[in-house]
Amino acid sequence: MAKTAIITGGSRGIGEAMSLKLGELGYNVVINYRSESSKALSDAIAEKLTKEYGVEALVVKADVSKYEDCEALVKAAIEKFGENIDVLVNNAGITNNCNFIDITREQYENVINTNLMSFLHMSHLVLPHMVNHSSKDDQCCIINTSSIGGLIGVINQADYCTSKAGIIGLTRALALEFAGKGIRVNAIAPGMIMTDMLRGVNQEELKALAATIPQGFIGDTSDIAGALGYLLTAPYVTGQVISPNGGIVQQ
Ligand code: NAP
Repeated sequence: MAKTAIITGGSRGIGEAMSLKLGELGYNVVINYRSESSKALSDAIAEKLTKEYGVEALVVKADVSKYEDCEALVKAAIEKFGENIDVLVNNAGITNNCNFIDITREQYENVINTNLMSFLHMSHLVLPHMVNHSSKDDQCCIINTSSIGGLIGVINQADYCTSKAGIIGLTRALALEFAGKGIRVNAIAPGMIMTDMLRGVNQEELKALAATIPQGFIGDTSDIAGALGYLLTAPYVTGQVISPNGGIVQQ
């Protein structure tokens, strides 16, 4: 029987590539999105998953910055695929680009609630459904999307960097707490990846950004999906942060 994976923010960009990777690896996938405009995108991913990989997919609208929405998301996953959840990919994220004097409390709370609190909520709700069936030989996994902003400071991104560094703390703590129960918890900290987050940037600025990267180019969503694939199939790896970033940050 196919295993079950839930991915938050699975509708676009890195999330889309990771949703498809989960299907390629044979998981039934619960694709979460938030914006009405992303329903059609999510439905198209679900269709592709079934056509190309023969797995089932469920599309669920939920604002994961809210605990009640996370509860509804997990409930929907269990109703469709049963109590045993095998993989949770916490990926939903937003960013502000604002200096710390002008940023409003509402703006930074929104970033923390979306990027960090949602990871806590979802882990808190899903782990009870992992501990009941995980083991050394049948492992469950949580993969958290952090960022190089969680490893180094970025100007005008204090809220984002706080959230992404927090995710690394959460990853390491949960990895230790659940290591003996057959549950692995790891993080991916992407560098600059071409998604909607970067599409607003004009060609000149993109060139300048690329010039700051030692490898000289902006990454692709497939680079992050590849890291996900590795982490899901690496039974002795837990509590780690993998950073596909073109050499911009070395750990
Ligand atoms: P993106 O294209 O803007 O996609 C963001 C995803 O998050 C969308 O699926 C969006 O859903 C979802 N989302 C946002 N807020 C949500 C909420 N409250 N509830 C549920 N879903 C929500 O961004 P991306 O570049 O793929 O980023 C994905 C992750 O990678 C984020 O955590 C981001 O911080 C991280 N990251 C990205 C880069 C980069 O260079 N792109 C670098 C480092 C880290 P809707 O489609 O419904 O809006």
